[in-house]
Amino acid sequence: MDFDYDTNNIFAKILRGEIPNQTVFENDHALAFRDINPGAPVHVLVIPKGPYVSIDHFARDASPEEQVGFFAAVARVCEVENLSQGFRSIANTRTHGVQDVPHFHLHLIGGKQLGAMLPQS
Ligand code: AMP
Repeated sequence: MDFDYDTNNIFAKILRGEIPNQTVFENDHALAFRDINPGAPVHVLVIPKGPYVSIDHFARDASPEEQVGFFAAVARVCEVENLSQGFRSIANTRTHGVQDVPHFHLHLIGGKQLGAMLPQS
């Protein structure tokens, strides 16, 4: 599969410093910042600094260093945001997954008791 990265997506602009963000944590390979429209008391987005459109793109093509750095950031956010009672991590992907921003991001959502993951059908 070809992954076509759009360098003008909003998270690319955040990484270039063209748009402000509320940073929670940063390392060489990842940036974590607050979602502008939080769905819970804690709603942080963790993104890689490299140009990856989706979780499957990142998992396939990111280097071991990038992958370790990304998940180190996830672990650090869980600590600093006090998510020891649990949380939800979501990576919406492409059309079926209703992904709005085409730069891989992991939502970390918590800080309260959450409801069912998907609406019951
Ligand atoms: P998704 O549907 O998974 O692509 O989610 C994109 C998320 O990015 C949404 O939860 C938005 O609220 C969030 N978002 C969009 N623009 C910004 C921004 N400038 N700063 C922080 N979060 C944003």
